[in-house]
Amino acid sequence: MPDAGSQSYKTDVIIIGAGPVGLFAIFELGLLGLSSHVVDILDRPGGQCAELYPEKAILDIPSRLKITGQELSQDLMAQAAPFHPTFHFQQMAEKLEKLESGHWRLVTDLGTVIEAPVIVVAGGGGSFMPKKPKLERLEEFENKSLFYSVRKMEQFRGKNVLIAGGGDSALDWVVNLQPVVAGMSLVHRRNEFRGMQVTVDQMYSLVEAGKVSLQIGDILRLNGDNGQLKSVTLKNAEKGEWDVACDAMLAFYGLTMKLGPIADWGLNLEHNHVPVSTENFETSTPGIFCIGDMCAYPGKLKLILSGFHESALMAHGCFHYARPNQKLRFEHTTSSSAIQAKIGAS
Ligand SMILES: Cc1cc2nc3c(=O)[nH]c(=O)nc-3n(C[C@H](O)[C@H](O)[C@H](O)COP(=O)(O)OP(=O)(O)OC[C@H]3O[C@@H](n4cnc5c(N)ncnc54)[C@H](O)[C@@H]3O)c2cc1C
Repeated sequence: MPDAGSQSYKTDVIIIGAGPVGLFAIFELGLLGLSSHVVDILDRPGGQCAELYPEKAILDIPSRLKITGQELSQDLMAQAAPFHPTFHFQQMAEKLEKLESGHWRLVTDLGTVIEAPVIVVAGGGGSFMPKKPKLERLEEFENKSLFYSVRKMEQFRGKNVLIAGGGDSALDWVVNLQPVVAGMSLVHRRNEFRGMQVTVDQMYSLVEAGKVSLQIGDILRLNGDNGQLKSVTLKNAEKGEWDVACDAMLAFYGLTMKLGPIADWGLNLEHNHVPVSTENFETSTPGIFCIGDMCAYPGKLKLILSGFHESALMAHGCFHYARPNQKLRFEHTTSSSAIQAKIGAS
């Protein structure tokens, strides 16, 4: 679940993006004693690994002979955990401004405010945005009674909810929201689902128990007034057209990646990538660093292992902003008792 938003925080480093590279950055910053807050528009860590290929085997992570996208995300979370990062999921890093103190203030679309001396952009291919259905009057209902994510389950308590889609997100929310809503319909164009088998089975059990109404057809029209949905008109070859009543709709048609608000932060973009110095991965704006798929430099390879290397050098660059009066002492994890104590590995 996301945090409630609208709160203020101070930290050493704000990381934008909880993809594999943003997650490893928490660890590298933590080794140097720097704390992090991490913002991601997704509802879980892992970026592309968790969202695009969670069950595929990655074969080129050094020393890991074979690891799935999901396992890598989990292991990176475990590796970062001793440094107690704070995550702000399901929030878009939206506005960035420089304060008179020289620090940065980041504001998310939920109104969370975070201040820090350093920003690390680990935005990968950009923020994941929902694919929208091509329907007339869509904008009239969006964010009023039609949504693309669940930020607070309470918002749907006692409502008659229609979920559209046939993948993991649609099925997960059918199963998770069903106990709190008054009525639940699932609409998909065919009676075949792409989700994990266990969730598909759970959904069919709820249909058999009469707790979910499964509707097979294409959505033709949205019906309602002043942003409030009353029903959705469906169509298929056998039944023709029919209406399904609802007062809230959740559309899960997959995600696409867009650069988003980062494009407005004055980062001297080149083809939607941020040029950096390979010495420390700082951008042309002092105090803003960029690592992972979003950064650009001669010879850049969009590989997870490249992002890991970039994280280590970036952390050393960040240290000078976060601790301007301290000297950085380079230590190996094998020989530093301070680091071992922090990680609990002595
Ligand atoms: C199908 C596929 C297979 C792949 N296989 C391999 C492989 O075998 N080996 C390998 O090394 N690499 C592989 N890759 C590439 C690898 O996934 C990427 O290099 C890696 O994910 C980059 O990590 P990242 O953390 O930089 O970015 P991402 O994983 O893209 O994460 C960036 C995160 O930032 C978030 N974000 C961006 N902007 C904002 C914002 N404004 N507000 C909030 N959140 C924001 C996004 O939501 C996202 O979660 C593969 C990629 C794909 C698509």
